[in-house]
This record gives sequence, structure tokens and C-alpha cells, in this order.
Amino acid sequence: MTSTDQQPFLSIRDLKVHFSTEDGVVKAVDGLSFDLARGKTLGIVGESGSGKSVTNLTILGLHDRDRTAIDGQILLDGNDLLSANERELERLRGNKMSMIFQDALASLSPYHTTGKQISETYRKHTGASKKESRQRAIEMLRRVGIPQPDIRVDDYPHQFSGGMRQRAMIAMALVCDPELLIADEPTTALDVTVQAQIMDLLKDLQQEFGTAIIFITHDLGVIADIADDVLVMYGGRCVEHGTKNGVLRAPQHPYTWGLLGSMPSLEGPVDVPLSPIPGSPPSLLNPPSGCSFHPRCAFTEKVRSGLCAAERPPLETAESHGAACHLTADQRRDFFADHAAPRSH
Ligand code: SF4
Repeated sequence: MTSTDQQPFLSIRDLKVHFSTEDGVVKAVDGLSFDLARGKTLGIVGESGSGKSVTNLTILGLHDRDRTAIDGQILLDGNDLLSANERELERLRGNKMSMIFQDALASLSPYHTTGKQISETYRKHTGASKKESRQRAIEMLRRVGIPQPDIRVDDYPHQFSGGMRQRAMIAMALVCDPELLIADEPTTALDVTVQAQIMDLLKDLQQEFGTAIIFITHDLGVIADIADDVLVMYGGRCVEHGTKNGVLRAPQHPYTWGLLGSMPSLEGPVDVPLSPIPGSPPSLLNPPSGCSFHPRCAFTEKVRSGLCAAERPPLETAESHGAACHLTADQRRDFFADHAAPRSH
């Protein structure tokens, strides 16, 4: 999308991830393409079930292979991830790519000390000695701001506070200097102060290691803080993409207008009620025809009669900022100015 590299570090083309269920085929991701350059952050936003997390589990090769049909292409630094076997993926997870989750307790084992989990990850991927790996674990705990890391290295996860556990998980994710870090709502469960500290930490580590980051969130305020580029997902597809400033200041898709209108602002008046987007996210078993946002969209009547329900709008990809909507560019600019009036972030 907005990368200027000849060969983007991460390139995803027409990715489709479909699951077989007793009720039918769930089209969790249905034709997604994007690029990510080294050292840059892509924010992926959308409601639950929009396909954000499935996309990233597929990049990491952590999907259920028996029940999932995948099509398209994922290239990471020239490695074709969709044709890689489990052993190759295991090597890449750790050395090249890594993930931090919302719930550190669920991703750290309660049976082993935090230090052992970090050092074993390092040992497995680098072949370093036990002593070297322990030193590396201490160094990483220090790097993510754990006080007295040479002592805390022997603590179990339950002995850490929520914020410290999240830091420890980040230390484990970064211990092998991955070139791609996928962060799936990593700060949602934390209070605002700790959330800000973790975001600062990620930015510092990115500067230091040149890591490319995919940051998944439903919070556009977080995106405003950390992303270079933004991709808005709805119903398993990208409905808008562009630079952070482009998407947040001049959004082009009615769904993005809705997202911007339904989030609180630190700068606006505190007594303005939030305006959630009416309706529910689309069923991925029986997605709506045409534009999958049409049952919730307030602008369908501005388009030729019946077009929104009949034809899926193509995603504009020629420009660095584009949307998938039948409204003309002029209409979008006018309607956004007249109706959406997003709060400042
Ligand atoms: Fe709304 Fe139609 Fe645009 Fe979809 S294509 S977002 S339904 S105006």
C-alpha cells in the first residue's frame, strides 16, 4: 500500500482464510492485500470478527490447518509462508516474527519461571548455552523496564503485576530480535498509565531494533499514537487503507466515519455521548450481498438505486489512500465534512 520499497518486507496478496463449520463455510478473511516495510507500524482496526486476528494468526502459521482453507500469498522477506512446512514456520517464529497477545497470563506458562521461559526461547532459536540464555533473559527484562531483573528472572508469572507480565511477554517476544512483531490488542487489559508505558516501550524497541510492527486494535486512539499506516477491516476485507494522517483526518469510508464517531476523545467535551454504529457486524457465514456494510450504512441512497446491495465496490489501490465504496470521491469529501465531523484525537 504505502511502502516505497521495491520488495516490501511483508507482502500479502489476495489472502483468503475460510473455515469449515457444521453450519457452512466461514469467510473470516476474504481477499486481503497489504504491504509492510521494515521498521514501520501498520495499525489494523475493525470490530470483533472483522478478520484482524485471523489474518495475523495465519501470517504466523498458527491457524488450524485441518479445518482451514487458505488461498493467496504471504511473503516475509522473500519467504513464502503459505507453502512453508511446520518446521520452517517454527524457525521463522522466533527468529523472524513474533507475537504479543492481550492476555500475558494465557501466553506465559504458570509452571515455569518467567526467566526460564524467555531463556529457553532464546536457546531454542539460537543454540546459545544455558548461561548465555539466562544472561540474555536478564538483559531483556531490564530492557523492558522490569526492576531488579537479576532477581525477578526467577519469579513465576503470577508473582508479576499485570503490567509487568505484559512487559515480560514483550521481552519474550523480542528476545530473538524478530524483524516482524504482531501485537494483538496488547494493552487493552491494562490501565491507561501502564498502557502508555507499554506503547512508549514498543516505540523505543522499534527504534532500537528496526522491527516492523502490525498493531491490531479496535481503538483508533491507540492507532493515532503508534501507527504509520492504517488498514480498516470490515467483514474480512479491507475497506480503507492509507497513512495514519490520511485515514484519521480525512477518512473516506462510511464505516471509518462510524468508527471515528463512536470513540471518545481526550480533547473534546466530556459530556458528548458516543454514537455507536447502528446494527451488528456482518455474518461471515452468510455475508450481505454487494458492499457488506450496506445494511448499516446511512449513505446507500446517495448511490444509484440498489447498487450498494448488488455490487461489491472495488478497493481503490492506485493511490496511497483508498477506500472500497461506491460514493464518488467528491461525495465522500462533502459527506464527511457535513455529517461525520470526527472528534480530534
Ligand atoms: Fe455505504 Fe454503499 Fe459505500 Fe458500502 S458502497 S459504504 S453501502 S455507500
